Amino acid sequence: MPALSAVRSNDNLSPLAAPRFACGWYETLPKPTAPRVAEGDLSFDMAVVGAGFTGLACTRRLAELYPDARIALIEAERLGAANSGRNSGFLLDISFYEDTTPAIQAAKTRLQEAGLCELDRVVREQGIACDWQPWGNLYGALGGEDEVLLDRMGERYRDAGKPLERWSAERMAEVTGSPRMRRGIFHPGTVLVQPVKLTRGLAATLPANVTLFEDSPVTAIVPGDGGYRLRTARSRIAVERIFLCANGGTPTLGPGKHRLLPVATFAAMTPPLASDGPLADTGPFGLLPVLPGGATLRLTQDRRLIVRQGAAFAPNGHPSDADLHRFLDEAGRTLALHWPALAQTAFEYAWGGVMSLTRNNAQLFGEQAPGLFVAAFCNGAGNTAGTAAGKLLAELAAGEESDLLADQMSLPSPTRLPPDFVNGFVVRHRIAQAKRRLERLYTAVDHPSPIQDGRRQA
Ligand SMILES: Cc1cc2nc3c(=O)[nH]c(=O)nc-3n(C[C@H](O)[C@H](O)[C@H](O)COP(=O)(O)OP(=O)(O)OC[C@H]3O[C@@H](n4cnc5c(N)ncnc54)[C@H](O)[C@@H]3O)c2cc1C
Repeated sequence: MPALSAVRSNDNLSPLAAPRFACGWYETLPKPTAPRVAEGDLSFDMAVVGAGFTGLACTRRLAELYPDARIALIEAERLGAANSGRNSGFLLDISFYEDTTPAIQAAKTRLQEAGLCELDRVVREQGIACDWQPWGNLYGALGGEDEVLLDRMGERYRDAGKPLERWSAERMAEVTGSPRMRRGIFHPGTVLVQPVKLTRGLAATLPANVTLFEDSPVTAIVPGDGGYRLRTARSRIAVERIFLCANGGTPTLGPGKHRLLPVATFAAMTPPLASDGPLADTGPFGLLPVLPGGATLRLTQDRRLIVRQGAAFAPNGHPSDADLHRFLDEAGRTLALHWPALAQTAFEYAWGGVMSLTRNNAQLFGEQAPGLFVAAFCNGAGNTAGTAAGKLLAELAAGEESDLLADQMSLPSPTRLPPDFVNGFVVRHRIAQAKRRLERLYTAVDHPSPIQDGRRQA
């Protein structure tokens, strides 16, 4: 069996077209109009830095709580171009981490459920078109270690008192079109979306007292005059209070230094599949992995397959092209493994994003200095967890109290990391371990490689 990286690059029978290294969710939508860039000396009552899910939820709640305040939402890139638009589009109502206590897990679940409820409310009230698809958490096992982990995952749902269906191989094949999985489990609740449509829709429907600036990275935060001054390349913005929701961009502005582990993960998207070809009878779905390093798979409403897979240490905050190339080989292998008839299908787009992980699965949350509020590092379930954290950050600033805010405050804070070279070594080692486990699993699953498939057809 060839190594994970060898399968696609050795494919000299029908060389596959190279994908564009760009986010497919973003590129397949109409181009946005020219951005409003922050320029000159500006003054606002409050500024939210970062327009991902966390910043968008924080801004909306601030605008509701302070309808007379002038609020700036300042984003470094175009809306939806950063992680909140680059992700797999699962609005997870629950997700499990192995090294979390039951109390913390329960608090995280309540927060994710609340984040999903909030997104549901806004999408419905504002009529946001974002391919909203009520779905669930569907996990499938290919065999071997995957089945052991699937059982363990099932136990966690049972222990948490969450409803769970057990799916046979036939049911998995019927729903995903993949004949490879031995069985699966399904928990209803999670919603699938087109994440760029959702982030754009959330921004477009913010209350009128919000001004959005894009392409305006904040380069410094300076205390002064009873508030703060934010600097961008072309502006100085005076504000009374700041809400820092910049995720991986947070430590360069102060809070969270030496606490962030930037780990890139990658995604690739096919062109729309032919309506009379493989998967013709399969509806849109989302499939989550149980094996660390395994693939997240989606068939979108416009019938594109998306493979999210792989990890790479990204100390400078960006995935490298070399990592993206390695990922493409792995993604091609995954595609061929699940859907042999699609082994020769080229991806149209491939991209990476950087997850803001911490050593202890923790988040930064709270008032870090007078008038400087932070919500960051919501990790793998940030679409819902970040939405909850952003909303609660606004409520914390307004002096509100609630059980949910108590849940958020009960989560651990990120612990300090060892020096960079140690982090790099540990993270790369863990990623290599996860890759070996996946390789063992794929090798154990009896399947023809895409190359053999091609030879057979030739
Ligand atoms: C490939 C991939 C798949 C994923 N799949 C999922 C999934 O299915 N479900 C899920 O819940 N999570 C998923 N995630 C994780 C998810 O993307 C994050 O948890 C989520 O985006 C966190 O939202 P956020 O608003 O906290 O941070 P971000 O989305 O990172 O937003 C922070 C924003 O701050 C901006 N910013 C940073 N620095 C500055 C600055 N100096 N000035 C101004 N603005 C700044 C950034 O440009 C960015 O827009 C995935 C991630 C990746 C990479």
